[in-house]
Amino acid sequence: MRVNLNNKVYNLFLIIALALFFSSVSKYVGADSKFRTALLKKFYIIGTGGINGVYYSLGSAIARLFNSRMEDILTISEPTNGSVSNIELLRSKEVTLALVQSDIAYDAYFGKGIFEGKPFPNLRILAALYSESVHLIVLNDSPIKTPLDLKGKQVSIGEEGSGTALNAKILLDECGIKSTDFHPKFLSLAKATDALKSGYIDAIFFTGGVPVEGFSLLSNEKPIRLISLPDYNLKIMLDGRPYFTSETILAGAYRGVTENVNTLGLRALLITTDSFESEKVETILQIIFSNSDYLTSISNMTESIDLKKALVGVDSKMLHQAAAAFYKSHGIF
Ligand code: GLU
Repeated sequence: MRVNLNNKVYNLFLIIALALFFSSVSKYVGADSKFRTALLKKFYIIGTGGINGVYYSLGSAIARLFNSRMEDILTISEPTNGSVSNIELLRSKEVTLALVQSDIAYDAYFGKGIFEGKPFPNLRILAALYSESVHLIVLNDSPIKTPLDLKGKQVSIGEEGSGTALNAKILLDECGIKSTDFHPKFLSLAKATDALKSGYIDAIFFTGGVPVEGFSLLSNEKPIRLISLPDYNLKIMLDGRPYFTSETILAGAYRGVTENVNTLGLRALLITTDSFESEKVETILQIIFSNSDYLTSISNMTESIDLKKALVGVDSKMLHQAAAAFYKSHGIF
């Protein structure tokens, strides 16, 4: 009996409390637009890369900036396997924005290479942010001196779904090394550097902005060496592939690396789809480029993110129309 009475009193109290709560909420929703937008926030997800790469730290910094500058949007950055995965996540609308390599974006848009038969014509570029270089690294005392020496070796070519893995496969193929000539390992950067340190693998491929944090950390523990791509192989890679450039990783980029290294490069792009709201494009590009010093310092890169270079390596057909308008108004398109 006592229990029942208590329950009744409790229920009555609960109903009054809820009524008071909802009446005060509706008052706020009617009167205070800040409260209303808080209830109606849109959600952006940025597809990035592994946690030891540049994409993840940069994507997270961009998300933080968006959250502090746009009241109506909640942005999170999501670690992923890298460029190829990001294309598929964007296609299936699981992410709103993504960082991807320019070569992968190009192939996806036009349905070439691994995207043969499944083009993604709705893909749109918002900005090119910085250059990425193909790194091929070994421990300093390794007998490996050229890509040809990878025959028979255990080589980490990046995670399945990474741009790195695709670059490594194409490059080795062009160097005359078939997938059966070596032992490919699909490792994250963190696992690969641990495995190289412990002698389980012989070499690591990674396509990323210089310096790649995982390699900086490794070079503090063990002397490393970067392998240059022979001119002949570079020439073959550049032929008919407009998104590739020839890059030099400068001596000193990593501890103990005393020589310049010639390799293949491309651009890291921020992409979305043609259905991304035009009104927000100008805002987010403004946020990114007016905070480029902060973003460069967070990602710890030697090359700075710069509005003047936002269209380097960008095929204008793939540019979001509101981004084109933004760059026109800044005199760079
Ligand atoms: N470019 C790399 C990839 O798509 C990722 C680079 C990074 O995480 O910084 O595989």
